[in-house]
Amino acid sequence: MNAMQQVGGDAVLIVVDVQNDFCPGGALAVPNGDEVVPVINRLARRFDHVVLTQDWHPPGHASIASAHPGKAPFESVRLAYGEQTLWPDHCVQNTAGAAFHRDLDIPRAQLVIRKGFHAGIDSYSAFRENDRRTPTGLAGYLRERGFRRVTLCGLATDYCVGFSAIDARATGFETAVMLDACRGIDLDGSLARMITAMREAGVSFL
Ligand SMILES: [Zn+2]
Repeated sequence: MNAMQQVGGDAVLIVVDVQNDFCPGGALAVPNGDEVVPVINRLARRFDHVVLTQDWHPPGHASIASAHPGKAPFESVRLAYGEQTLWPDHCVQNTAGAAFHRDLDIPRAQLVIRKGFHAGIDSYSAFRENDRRTPTGLAGYLRERGFRRVTLCGLATDYCVGFSAIDARATGFETAVMLDACRGIDLDGSLARMITAMREAGVSFL
C-alpha cells in the first residue's frame, strides 16, 4: 500500500477495540497500547470507509474473573463452549473504561460494532463470538455494502485483532493486518502463535 494513496472502493479499515481499558492505566492494559492511536488516526484518514469495534460487556460477564468465585484473572475456566481465559473486569458497558481512547480521532467512522454483550459468551473476534457460532452481524454488513478487502488494526494483536483477521479470511475477505498500528498482550507466547496462525490463514501483513 502506497503511503500517500487514498484507499476507497471495496476496501474497509476495521479499528479493533481502541478503548481506555486496553490502554495504559486501563483495567486490561496492553503494553504501549496507546501508541497505536496516532498511527491509526493517520491510517484512517486514508480510508474512505472505516468501522470501529468496541468490547462491550454487561456487569458479571462470563469472561470476567470476578464472576467466578476462587478464580483469578488470566486463569481459565470451562464454559459451555469450551476453555475461556478469564480477564480482569474490563470494558463494562457505559463505563469510562469501555469508551474509546479520547485521542482516537476518526470522525468519518461509519459503524461501531459492539461485541461481548451476551452474558455467557466472550467475543474476541469482530465477526463471531467465542462459541464460534454466534455472529456479530459484521460479515453481513460488510457484504451488503460490497466490501471485499479488509485491513485491520488496533488492540490486541494476539486476541481481538488476530481472531478478527482469521475470521475475515474465513468469511472470504481479502485480509491484511497493519502491524505498526497494533500492539499485543503476549500471554505465554500468544503473540508469536497468533502471527503464525494469521499467516497460515492467508492474512497478509502491512
Ligand atoms: Zn472483553
